[in-house]
Amino acid sequence: MVMVSVLTIAFVKLATALGGRKSEVCEIGDTTTVAVICSVDGTIREEQIDRCIAPIVQALNVANIVTTESCCGHGRPGVIFMADGRELEIKTRKGEVK
Ligand SMILES: [Zn+2]
Repeated sequence: MVMVSVLTIAFVKLATALGGRKSEVCEIGDTTTVAVICSVDGTIREEQIDRCIAPIVQALNVANIVTTESCCGHGRPGVIFMADGRELEIKTRKGEVK
């Protein structure tokens, strides 16, 4: 429960930092800090995540869904890998995300 609280605070900080902006495909290296659950020992650590998918990665971790790796694809299909073996494919609807 303490872990979830820490992640919830991290999520609020991230949402505030991003300012509710519309999601845009970010450039390579345009990252932001996200608090995530370590898939090895369950501790909380900070990782640099592609800015445009950082809220998704943060929300998954707040929900105790452990992510292991992610990339938005920078205009091409991206992916978020989860520790349980699943993966989320990141796609953009043509013309809706720039
Ligand atoms: Zn991006």
